[in-house]
Amino acid sequence: MNFRFVDLSVPIQNPVEGEISGGMGAILAADIEYQTHADTHREFAAMFAGAGPEAMPDGQAIGAEKLKLTAHAGTHVDAPWHYFPTSEGRPARTIDQLELEHFFAPGVVLDLRGHEPGDRIEVPDLEAAVEATGAPLAAGEIVCLRFGQDEHFGTPRYWDDYPGLGAAATRWLIERGIKVIGTDAPGLDRGNPYMARDWKATGDASLLWEAHRVGIDHEYFQIEKLANLGALPSHHPRDSHRPRRVRDHRRIGPERAGYAVEGGELLPGAGEPGGDRASREPREIVGVLGLSQLEHHVIGGIHHVVDAALTHRLEPLPEPVG
Ligand SMILES: [Zn+2]
Repeated sequence: MNFRFVDLSVPIQNPVEGEISGGMGAILAADIEYQTHADTHREFAAMFAGAGPEAMPDGQAIGAEKLKLTAHAGTHVDAPWHYFPTSEGRPARTIDQLELEHFFAPGVVLDLRGHEPGDRIEVPDLEAAVEATGAPLAAGEIVCLRFGQDEHFGTPRYWDDYPGLGAAATRWLIERGIKVIGTDAPGLDRGNPYMARDWKATGDASLLWEAHRVGIDHEYFQIEKLANLGALPSHHPRDSHRPRRVRDHRRIGPERAGYAVEGGELLPGAGEPGGDRASREPREIVGVLGLSQLEHHVIGGIHHVVDAALTHRLEPLPEPVG
């Protein structure tokens, strides 16, 4: 199989010396207690009827870690509930209520390196970055903003000094059917001290968290603290990342591939902003991407993955996922 895996997450780790100087780092930094194989004799005994060192190879219990951290400490998705109690006039959804297919979709990396900390990304910045990818945005794509901020991970500069998306630019993405917006900065908005500075200077409180608060009127999801976006292609050729042949087990049986979705057409309901999920047919099929050169066949879960280089080879997964 022609898989290449890229780790897009930052490590969850204790702050390094000198990293935290107040600000968001002080709020979000993880606190990890590392337990050696000698530290956990008590836990081992509790799990195994009082087993002592004599029951452990060379007297070694188990290595473990205890983590104390906020949900925003590492690479994570912000659910609409984080932004405000309501979204689009309804109770804002929490992370467990979001459909996983939004996060398993074609992706595009917008190169926004070169902006200064505190810069607000505006619509023309996005238009230029999209243009540079060689293809327009398509509804349902995951848009990842690459500032290069992950290069500062583990330094004081990481937590507060970065550019961020303005409200108008956030709406511009949402209007194009983008539901998931990722960033390699700690937050989608500009660094907190810059928002605070501008609020103090202007008295305009709408500058505080302007991108997050767009979610009050337009439901969307953020991925924060991404990393290694430079290892991804900026935009796959359009037809290599759209599912073109999809099986529908319930309609045509598992032996025949007959459901055709051509070109860049969005699959039914996938990633549509405000799409009415309840009205979708049970045969709902959701496209997949992130992995170059692959076609995925998805029916309410992953049943088969096809290697585009060897299309005759259909690999059933041991168990349907999802
Ligand atoms: Zn967050």
